[in-house]
Amino acid sequence: MKKIKQIYEGKAKKVFSTEDPDFVIVEYKDDATAFNGEKKGVISGKGVINNRVSNFFFQKLEQEGIATHFVEEISERETIVKKVEIVPLEVIIRNIAAGSFSKRYGVEEGTVLSAPTLEFSYKNDSLGDPLINDYHAIALGLTTQEEIDKITSMSFRVNKFLSEYLLNIGIRLVDFKLEFGRFKGDIVLADEISPDTCRFWDKDTNKKLDKDRFRHDLGNVEDAYKEIMSRLMGS
Ligand code: UDP
Repeated sequence: MKKIKQIYEGKAKKVFSTEDPDFVIVEYKDDATAFNGEKKGVISGKGVINNRVSNFFFQKLEQEGIATHFVEEISERETIVKKVEIVPLEVIIRNIAAGSFSKRYGVEEGTVLSAPTLEFSYKNDSLGDPLINDYHAIALGLTTQEEIDKITSMSFRVNKFLSEYLLNIGIRLVDFKLEFGRFKGDIVLADEISPDTCRFWDKDTNKKLDKDRFRHDLGNVEDAYKEIMSRLMGS
């Protein structure tokens, strides 16, 4: 399958059509943004790492019976994926308080939550991705109760699998963001799972190994991304 035409360019990826209308090719960029696009920069080599890391996770999740958009990695930055219609919700799962959750509820970062939590944001850049509840999402016609039930149960399954998998390689899965898409009447996990979209902390030192190093200018950003890839894949 070959790229035919660029159909979309986002903050971290480009999407190309292919000769088959059911499939597109995503190309991961090194560009990084934070705080709704206010902070911009480049994390050298990030596109390669996120492509490989995300595909690694998606293949593991497929083996666990979780449907994803993944089809085939075709180069270090490019992957063939199913062409889905994205459900305009960002699903955030948390195991440990951090980021906006800590701020909103006044909970110290690092507090282990009594149970994993889930929240939705409305995927809408001009509104700044506001928090949204299921009633509002349905009232706005963004999704249905049936889809929400499916997305919720898939998200907690992803969390259970990934948090156990990562702990075995010395990483605490603090929180992460998922996106889902509609494909031939089904809901599949889409977008990416990478250090851009997760908080990963070293199990022993709590060292941040994710995009928070870029967001808060903590230094050694590239090394943190490489560390995640090498712990997962050994190279
Ligand atoms: N996240 C993301 N994209 C977003 C917002 C959040 O990938 O547009 C991820 C973020 O990396 C973290 C989790 O979702 O792993 C929870 O983020 P939070 O709501 O705490 O927001 P932040 O503090 O990043 O603004």
